[in-house]
Amino acid sequence: MFNSFLGRFSRDLGIDLGTANTLVYCKDKGIIINEPSVVALNTRTGQIVAVGHSAKDMIGKTPGHIATVKPLVAGIISDFEVTEKMLKYFIEKAHKDNFSVLPRPRVVIGVPLDLTEVERKAVEDAALNAGAREVYLVEEPMAAAIGARLPITEPVGNMVVDIGGGTTEIAVISLSGVVTWKSLPIAGDEFNKNIVLFARENFNLLLGERVAENIKIRIGSAMQQEEPLVMEMRGRDMVTGLPKEIMVTDAQIREALARSVRTIVENIKSALEITPPELVADIYERGIVLTGGGALLKGLDKVISRAAEIPVRVADDPLTCVVRGTGILIDNFDLLRTIALPSSQETTAERRAMQT
Ligand code: ADP
Ligand code: MG
Repeated sequence: MFNSFLGRFSRDLGIDLGTANTLVYCKDKGIIINEPSVVALNTRTGQIVAVGHSAKDMIGKTPGHIATVKPLVAGIISDFEVTEKMLKYFIEKAHKDNFSVLPRPRVVIGVPLDLTEVERKAVEDAALNAGAREVYLVEEPMAAAIGARLPITEPVGNMVVDIGGGTTEIAVISLSGVVTWKSLPIAGDEFNKNIVLFARENFNLLLGERVAENIKIRIGSAMQQEEPLVMEMRGRDMVTGLPKEIMVTDAQIREALARSVRTIVENIKSALEITPPELVADIYERGIVLTGGGALLKGLDKVISRAAEIPVRVADDPLTCVVRGTGILIDNFDLLRTIALPSSQETTAERRAMQT
């Protein structure tokens, strides 16, 4: 009873804890935080120096005692402690900026499909420590599908391919559940690495990660585009040790990305192969929806569509699908209860018992 009383006054939060970006949605306000999942730490004291945009700007530019950490690598939490600090920072920031006088919020968090029990508990603990009253974890592709407004509760097959920084998650959803899925560690970060490798192997040019990402975003593609694109690629000459600039074309970058693109396509095809035929028939009719930042790679939708012989579309604003999905769930508690992962701890139930 007390809980529902609290619920009326607190501003609940939806969080997309992504490998590349963390987004926070606040009830009645929309997306209030959208920052890189990067933390800069003082390695001597273990203290946080910066989080989000300012930490990402430090990558590759830090002195010896500062390290920039991406606590979520390849979709798994590679660093619990830093993940917790980061989550805490973002929740506190959202809380402070928006409802300092309001009670602690309920929090819905999108998490990767293959999170272990221990990792799930770590995320829940982090959110509770950061001041959440209750925590609900939902599978990211489910949240992405909800954010993309797919009819996930109906008995029809919906295929979502979420291409993030660390992982590509392929999921077939029907009747509010994930029927078949695949997760692979080839996504946006791997595209960047492909470009770094290409520059090294072909030009003896050492590129920074962020430079590679910019090249990918500006001229990267999975399929030939109408207009050829050219761009400068700046790094360090590995032979002379001096700065060097080389012009690259979209065709060269496409070639550098080709193998990763092919791997994603092959995995989508093999996910279809393990999907029950009735659902495959729905997917053929309804098409595949792409979400996540990687979905913005030019021509990727067409390459997938051609290979799988299924219509493919990129969701509106693919970078925010997951967080918008969590936002919809905040307002639809019945649906949230149906799809939330079982809580890995007693705490939430205990709290509830204490509060009523
Ligand atoms: P995550 O959910 O893992 O945090 P996101 O869905 O936020 O990942 O996507 C981040 C990835 O999308 C990064 O690798 C980024 O480089 C890539 N990305 C963002 N915009 C574009 C673009 N226009 N073209 C290609 N890749 C992009
Ligand atoms: Mg994501």
